[in-house]
Amino acid sequence: MDTLFQNYDALIGRVNAQCEKIETALSEHMVCRKGCASCCLNISLFPVEALRLRMALDALGAEVRASVLASAVRSLDEGPCPLVDTDGACRLYGARPVICRTHGLPILFADEEGARRVDFCPENFKGVASLSGDAMIDLDALNQILTGVNAQFCEALFGGAPPFERISISEALQLELDA
Ligand code: SF4
Repeated sequence: MDTLFQNYDALIGRVNAQCEKIETALSEHMVCRKGCASCCLNISLFPVEALRLRMALDALGAEVRASVLASAVRSLDEGPCPLVDTDGACRLYGARPVICRTHGLPILFADEEGARRVDFCPENFKGVASLSGDAMIDLDALNQILTGVNAQFCEALFGGAPPFERISISEALQLELDA
């Protein structure tokens, strides 16, 4: 099964490295910390990320798993992420999706008119007049790579026709897995 996730895991490694580099360079302007879950919403995921997260759930203890599933059942789309613990920490931090790894960092993206914009957590970079291009995550490029990784994954696992295009984190956590 792990070979199915080889490309995804390689992408995670690259994203982690890039995020760490940016965080190190900008740490004095960032207030992100364990327990802050302002960015944590019940977002939608491609099959590759949904199944990676769902498989990670099985590694949690029975009590935590039951608590996560109870939160998942109650979750609303775009509401708070069901993986946020009572102390604000992520209960599957090591297996969190790609976008979660960029939380708080400067994100470069094209808006609906095609204009390039930068966004970041309003708690960060207060008083910073400008940010260099290599201190930003190019979200469109990242999404393009993730789309390709997901397509390869779906081809290998489902012969190209996945049972869903995207599902929310709460739906992913409730998936029944075949052995
Ligand atoms: S998976 Fe974890 S990091 Fe991502 S939104 Fe949920 S709680 Fe936050």
